[in-house]
Amino acid sequence: MIVDLHNHTPLCNHAEGSIDEYIQKAISVGTQHFGFSDHAPMDFDPKYRMQFQDMEQYEEDVLIAKEKYKGKIEILLGYEVDFLEGHMDQRVLNANVDYLIGSVHFIEGWGFDNPEFIGKWEEQDIDEIWQKYFDTIEKMANSALFDIVGHLDLIKVFKFMPKKNITDIAQNALLAIKSAGMVLELNIAGYRKTVKEPYPSKSLLEEAFRLGIPITFSSDAHKPEQIAMFHDEIVSLAKSIGYTECAYFKKRKIRFLNF
Ligand SMILES: [Zn+2]
Ligand SMILES: [Zn+2]
Repeated sequence: MIVDLHNHTPLCNHAEGSIDEYIQKAISVGTQHFGFSDHAPMDFDPKYRMQFQDMEQYEEDVLIAKEKYKGKIEILLGYEVDFLEGHMDQRVLNANVDYLIGSVHFIEGWGFDNPEFIGKWEEQDIDEIWQKYFDTIEKMANSALFDIVGHLDLIKVFKFMPKKNITDIAQNALLAIKSAGMVLELNIAGYRKTVKEPYPSKSLLEEAFRLGIPITFSSDAHKPEQIAMFHDEIVSLAKSIGYTECAYFKKRKIRFLNF
C-alpha cells in the first residue's frame, strides 16, 4: 500500500509491536507514506486507549521515527479519535498532528463492536441500530473536527445485517462527508473480523465515488504483520470502481497520489 494512515501502537493497550517494527514492515511492503493514528485518550472506556499523560511520549516517538526513516519512508502523525459527544477533548482535537481520523465505536455509549457487549444486539431492531450508527457518522462529519472517516461501515463487524438498503441508510452520512471535505479510508481490518470484507463495502464505495468523495488506504494494524495484508484485494476494489488516486495529509492539509 503506497499510503497507509491508520495504525496503532502498544500505548492503546490492545496492540503489539514497536514503532520500529511497524515501520520496517511498512518499508518492506513498499509503503511510501505511513501514518500512526493510535486511539486518542478520552475520559470514557480508558482501557482501550492511551492515557492523556502518554500523548507527549507518543508524539515524540513518532516524530523521532519520522527523522530516523527520512528518505526511506515518510512517517505521519495522527490520532484515531472517538466521536462521542461530551467526551472529545481539546488536547486531542488541537494536537499538532498531520491528521485526525474520526471513528464511531459507540452508539449512545454502547461499544457495539466490542465482543464483550455483543448481547445488546439482541435487544434492539437491527435496522434501527444501523440507522443510529450512520446518523452518528453524519453528526461526526458535520462536526468538521476530523480529516478521515474511520471504517465507514464498522457497524457490520459481526455481520448483523439490516433488512433495509444500506446505501439508503448511509445516504445522509455520505452527503455530510462530501460537504465536510472528508476522506474515506479503505480499511482492511474488516477482513480480519466476522464480516470478512473491507470497510466500506463495495456498494458504499461506489456511492462515495459517485459523490466524488476521495479515499485513502489503511491497515488498521494492531500488530506489525497486519500491515498491507489483503493489499491486492483493496487496491483492485478501488480501481474497479474508478478510483485512481488516494489522499494523505501533512499538517492537516490534503495531498493526493496516484496508486
Ligand atoms: Zn484498536
Ligand atoms: Zn477504529
